[in-house]
Amino acid sequence: MLRNLLFLVKEELTTALKDYVGRETPLYYAERLTAHYKAHIYIKREDLAHLGAHKMNNALAQAIIAKRMGLTAVIAATGAGQHGIATAAACAKFGLSCTIFMGTADMEKQPSSVDLMNLLGAKVRPTAGSFKDATSDSIRDWTEKLGEVYYLAGTAVGPHPCPTMVREFQSVIGRETRRQAAEKWGGTPDAVVACVGSGSNALGIFHEFVRDPTVRLIGVEAAGFGLNTGKHAATLAAGEVGVYHGAMSYLLQDEEGQITCPHSVGVGMEYPGVAPELSFLKETGRMEFYSASDEEAVEAYRRVARLEGILPALEASHAFAYLEKLCPTMPDGAKIIISCSGRGEKDTETVFNYPIS
Ligand SMILES: *Cc1c(COP(=O)(O)O)cnc(C)c1O
Repeated sequence: MLRNLLFLVKEELTTALKDYVGRETPLYYAERLTAHYKAHIYIKREDLAHLGAHKMNNALAQAIIAKRMGLTAVIAATGAGQHGIATAAACAKFGLSCTIFMGTADMEKQPSSVDLMNLLGAKVRPTAGSFKDATSDSIRDWTEKLGEVYYLAGTAVGPHPCPTMVREFQSVIGRETRRQAAEKWGGTPDAVVACVGSGSNALGIFHEFVRDPTVRLIGVEAAGFGLNTGKHAATLAAGEVGVYHGAMSYLLQDEEGQITCPHSVGVGMEYPGVAPELSFLKETGRMEFYSASDEEAVEAYRRVARLEGILPALEASHAFAYLEKLCPTMPDGAKIIISCSGRGEKDTETVFNYPIS
């Protein structure tokens, strides 16, 4: 079923990824970060995708599927707003009606995201609470209107086939990366590093390399104020297995199995679960996972800004932060690819006002 769908949309998707999203995104050789770290640093520039993050790859593909299924109404849930904005834009492009569920707490924190979704023609439906509540509400709404509305999953979590679809649509990142690495140095990277909020940009760049045993796959989660403070979003490192939103995965939960509230300076990292597929890669040992604190992420943001003139989203800054620990352990001449999942203009105020210790 999924394979048939993918086959049907392939041509239209390829054209739209090129002309609408602006793919392929560059694999940029970061000379000054390379000089700083003594390891070759390459940045996969998802920040240059339309609307400034990898989210568009998936939103666009699924909007095409909704259209091909003959559905004219799309619903989705958003936390920080990135997925809501990408979905609203994709729906505008295809003339689909769009309703975005968003927690009232998130709406207060991100008023400009709400404005942007409205400008893009979406209806924003407030849900008491935060992202997890908005997700529950949107899934409820979907199950009541199956066959009428299309639920556009934003990341590789939730009931099957959502995680598979999102991973498939994001894996364009890894396919391009392999091709670009082959062009640039005729090989594969020694390590691929990506931030892990719920896992879509990480799976997007990892998937292509899972079967290359020489390529280390490194996920960096948000340690927030610290893993032992309870104020973090490091689900793989500190979570326990549970069932949530229709899938079994690692989750941040208390002793009674109630979902706890994640924290990160990168708001897109604040999800209490993680992609089941990443949970699997953790359990098989194929993927390594580490975490970076709020402070380390903010420092990395400033470092990349000053050394490369690139503002990485605070989410992606967690991946950059881990270079401090990774690079000294890598052999001479190692090649490291970082997934820059999005652009950091949205975070300038947070970073500017963050106290320097
Ligand atoms: C949403 C978002 C993330 C986190 O989501 P993943 O599913 O883990 O990729 C990371 N970076 C940016 C820029 C985002 O918008």
